Amino acid sequence: MYFVSTRDESGSKFTASEAIMKGLAPDGGLFVPERIPDLGPDFTMEKGYAYAAYEVIKPYFEGDEALDDLYDICQKAFNFPVSFHTREGKDTLELYWGPTSAFKDFGARFLAFFMESRLKKSGEDLTVLVATSGDTGGAVASAFHEREHLRVKVLFPKGGVSERQMRQLTCFDGNVEAFEVNGTFDDCQKMVKDAFMDPSLHGLTSANSINLGRLLPQVVYYVWASFIYKARYGREAVFIVPSGNVGNSTGAFWAKAMGAPIRHIELAVNANRTIPDYLESGEYRPRKSCHTLANAMDVGAPSNMERLFNLFKSYDEFKANVTSHSVDDYKIRTTIREVFEEEGYLICPHTACAEYVRRKYYDGKPTVVVSTAHPAKFESIVEPIIGKTVAIPETLYDMLTRDCSYTEIGTDYRDLF
Ligand SMILES: *Cc1c(COP(=O)(O)O)cnc(C)c1O
Repeated sequence: MYFVSTRDESGSKFTASEAIMKGLAPDGGLFVPERIPDLGPDFTMEKGYAYAAYEVIKPYFEGDEALDDLYDICQKAFNFPVSFHTREGKDTLELYWGPTSAFKDFGARFLAFFMESRLKKSGEDLTVLVATSGDTGGAVASAFHEREHLRVKVLFPKGGVSERQMRQLTCFDGNVEAFEVNGTFDDCQKMVKDAFMDPSLHGLTSANSINLGRLLPQVVYYVWASFIYKARYGREAVFIVPSGNVGNSTGAFWAKAMGAPIRHIELAVNANRTIPDYLESGEYRPRKSCHTLANAMDVGAPSNMERLFNLFKSYDEFKANVTSHSVDDYKIRTTIREVFEEEGYLICPHTACAEYVRRKYYDGKPTVVVSTAHPAKFESIVEPIIGKTVAIPETLYDMLTRDCSYTEIGTDYRDLF
């Protein structure tokens, strides 16, 4: 199995291991498999999630040097539950029972254990640089904490992340260092870019959401959930996915292409309307992002769209496979309140986008809303809406009560080293 660049200028081919260790293709494109493999005949749910994950990811590693370590990596990475919540005939796929209470734990943990296993073999060391405005940094810091041969430097903008997010970024010691940058998120991103461009710095890598190592684990839970759904109801699942950079939903489309029993995938976005506008007009116009209550989805130029355009080659094909609706902050608020009052179920602002779309556009039809974060991560938004405090999951509580440590710096990337 080989991977090529979405821009495919060079015609070069890479193994999965090479693609994951590189992150981005040399021509600036994203890695995609030459063809999406079928689910192997050995696929079974009977041996638990980690084994099923191994079976889903294995075909992407056919002929790869890391194949022998793959099962071990899956066992270490996926040690928390994926759960279906069903109320009044409505299903929600809760992807937030990992250490940092958001779905990004799946991808970050697989990537961390994968890189560690490769570096143990080669004896090299790598430093992961991450700029974060919220969830990504916490998931990456937690996943890479105590991984051998790896160091992490997390950059966050001063005053630009919530109190709880800040605590999650700064509660680690050892190989994870946090930097509070006296600037904006854009400054943080620029510092990371500048560091990568500096020829005197070696052994740097990134862990952002375009990395193939974060995408493959996001295929797994769609395969897993769709088979559970099929067994329970005898029909194929329709997933409504809260989307920003479209990495989570790309996982769903790859799962469907592998043969998982999925009928349709809908992308729920916030007020950043790039994708619904494209579906309406046929013209793709990436733009600046705007701030919303679902801030992990504040993306105006979704990076993984390049992978979806690679999967669906024309506008007509795209339109035949993808639907998307935009949900504004007012609707996010009312949906959180209504679902809580009517169904006694609390959802985060991102999940609320998908729940709104279910209520408005899928009235009465069976669908699965994908829940991307635990509401306790966004307590400053959800608590005033419902007028109650939210109980915190144990792993999150543990992180929030540890000592914080971080270094304050300006916007010069050289101060990171
Ligand atoms: C990152 C994130 C999203 C968006 O996921 P994409 O893969 O970027 O589309 C949605 N919800 C939460 C809570 C997130 O952290």
